[in-house]
Amino acid sequence: MTERLYYHDSNLLEFEATIVRTGQQDGRTFTVLDKSAFYPTSGGQQYDTGQLNTTDIVDVQEGPEGEVQHFSRQPVGVASTVVTGVVDKERRRRHCCFHTAQHILSHIFATLFDMPTVSVHLGEEYGAVELQGSVLPSEQLDRVEKRANEIIRDAQLVTIIFAEGDELASMPLRKPPQRGGKVRVIRIGELECVACGGTHCSNSAEVGMLKIIGVEKLRGHPLVKFLVAERAFEDYRSRFEVTSQLAQSLTCHHQDLPDKFAALVAENKTLHRQLTDLYKELLPRRAEAIAAKAKLESKKLVCTLSDLPDVRLTGQLAPLVADEINGVALLIHDTRLFVACAQGSAFDAGELAKQLSERFSLKGGGNGRLAQLGGVEPDKLAEIEAFLKTVVQG
Ligand SMILES: [Zn+2]
Repeated sequence: MTERLYYHDSNLLEFEATIVRTGQQDGRTFTVLDKSAFYPTSGGQQYDTGQLNTTDIVDVQEGPEGEVQHFSRQPVGVASTVVTGVVDKERRRRHCCFHTAQHILSHIFATLFDMPTVSVHLGEEYGAVELQGSVLPSEQLDRVEKRANEIIRDAQLVTIIFAEGDELASMPLRKPPQRGGKVRVIRIGELECVACGGTHCSNSAEVGMLKIIGVEKLRGHPLVKFLVAERAFEDYRSRFEVTSQLAQSLTCHHQDLPDKFAALVAENKTLHRQLTDLYKELLPRRAEAIAAKAKLESKKLVCTLSDLPDVRLTGQLAPLVADEINGVALLIHDTRLFVACAQGSAFDAGELAKQLSERFSLKGGGNGRLAQLGGVEPDKLAEIEAFLKTVVQG
């Protein structure tokens, strides 16, 4: 069993210890010390990184007998050697902030809405608490967020107490401890009180700020995701930049952006409809232009790419082109292929589509007049045209 230095002080990041043993696990080297300030992954909190002497510690896990295993790419040293350990400060600080914030959130959800925390996730990018109960409406989440930031601003002292027996029984624990004997209890002011083995800030103010960024469903439970400290600030800064740029280009206040955006979407829909109507009126003339060369050469086949703004227009244009040449028109719009046959002609669009789908592995179908196939690559046009020529003119 390794003595856990972080149990007493989360700010102790440099220490000296003696190597007890070394080992291999899944092809990786690990070192066990008599004591360590490195936190092993557990309770939803990620491991610390850092160095033992000059060797990088890339992972820290709890061994089967409660020992702390420090994983490294090279061996740190042999048993009985004294080493100096240094824990990465930034990563530890981030974990402490996320973990303290999680306690604050778990406390608020339990006291305000009687929603116990089922599990916690404290990742690199965000933290999350899985709660018992149903998803809360956004006004209640706002209330939680506001209360959390009040607790942070009030600079509540975070204390570590080792208690057992009557002392432990007299504590206002948020949930009963999972094991007996001496238990490590974390208190945040007079508010939060729970058994926990993780690393935390010394004071709630170190969390800086907390922002709830969304609620997802996990195993039927609400999973509340949140950001704290620098992660919350970075998020605010990037959103600020985006909204500022948008507000500047639309010459409005950022609060008016949703209305501006809705108006733009509505205007765009109207313009699209008007443009489609105009194109529709012009389709016969466009069909004439596309068919002109083939008509001159008395060809019964036209194959081309469509540049119309709406795929439905291409579907309407294809039969008009086929009628112009009294033959077969093949138009490709993005990855959609339309094949149309002139009214009263000897060709059948559905039949041609069937042959094309077999030859080029395309999916779709249609009737004698018009058929469409999906999944075509526009650069296959020449190949498709060559094949159709053998069918239509050969
Ligand atoms: Zn904790």
